[in-house]
Amino acid sequence: MAEILVLVDHADGEVKKVTLELLTKARALGAPSAVFIGSGYDKAAEKLAEYGAAKVYVAEDAELDGYVTAPKAELLAKLVADTGAAAVLVPATAEGKEVGGRLAVKTGSGILTDAVDVSAELVAEQSIFGGSTVAHSKVTKGTPIIAMRPNATAPEAAPAAAERVDVSVELTDAAKLAKVVEKVVLPKGDRPELTEASIVVSGGRGVGSGENFAIIEKLADALGAAVGASRAAVDAGWYPHQSQVGQTGKTVSPQLYIAAGISGAIQHRAGMQTSKTIVAVNKDEEAPIFELADFGVIGDLFKVVPQVTDEIEKRK
Ligand code: FAD
Repeated sequence: MAEILVLVDHADGEVKKVTLELLTKARALGAPSAVFIGSGYDKAAEKLAEYGAAKVYVAEDAELDGYVTAPKAELLAKLVADTGAAAVLVPATAEGKEVGGRLAVKTGSGILTDAVDVSAELVAEQSIFGGSTVAHSKVTKGTPIIAMRPNATAPEAAPAAAERVDVSVELTDAAKLAKVVEKVVLPKGDRPELTEASIVVSGGRGVGSGENFAIIEKLADALGAAVGASRAAVDAGWYPHQSQVGQTGKTVSPQLYIAAGISGAIQHRAGMQTSKTIVAVNKDEEAPIFELADFGVIGDLFKVVPQVTDEIEKRK
């Protein structure tokens, strides 16, 4: 069975959920081989085995930690050449897409981004044009590189050997040009990361102020969700930019997306419309978000959201 290379997304060996999703998808396409780059492999090994990595190519090197895309692309290019892999799966995160793009140039291959599914024939289902269209696409040149959106696949465990194969690559001067000089860890709190969360509660201009975001946060905490925001709320300075959902913010695809006081502009939809279930709370029954919502509540969010939060807390 041909190998499917899966780029492991991790932080100091802490494997991100999207990697487990990619391994689950890779099992349906061929023999999944994880590619671990950076430090902390001991922490990652068990998870990669649990989710079906037959092999793990390990380049354990602290210099390759973090957002260093050129060396990662060089290493993957070497592995593609050495293994004759049938495809490479990378997460459709900012870093994953950059590594994938560089890899495509290096290997002369096609890349498909923002895939929400991929068939055994390597036909990818892509959410394109800001999410307004679904395309079915196939790479016809080189080794297909597919960037899969986080939360597109439900991760399923299927233990495998995860045989460790150490690899290294002689980096070109060009790959050494960019270095991480400082890492700024943003306060994260106990909430899940926005693009990884299975539930997201977002607030928009209707929330009215930064202080009022507390009611969005309370609902999020009752559900174990991440907090998102529309650009209007971010531009007003009510919530940080890293929480913005949409065309110029983050793309999320959770099981449940709750939009409170958000009108549903096309640029906001671009970042959330592949969510599995969408609930909208808006006092304007004509708000475009209701065209998209699976469940809509026409009402004042200052009444609806706290009531929902109380109800959820009671049932815990
Ligand atoms: P509004 O459109 O003002 O909607 C507020 C909603 O709240 C209204 O529907 C109102 O009925 C409702 N409301 C008010 N009070 C209450 C209440 N008490 N209870 C219930 N409902 C209430 N936007 C993004 O979100 N993300 C992006 O990444 C993004 N990128 C953009 C890129 C470009 C190039 C451009 C031009 C725009 C972009 N935008 C983006 C902006 C986008 O066009 C909208 O302006 C923005 O999404 C509107 O945010 P909103 O829905 O919070 O505000």
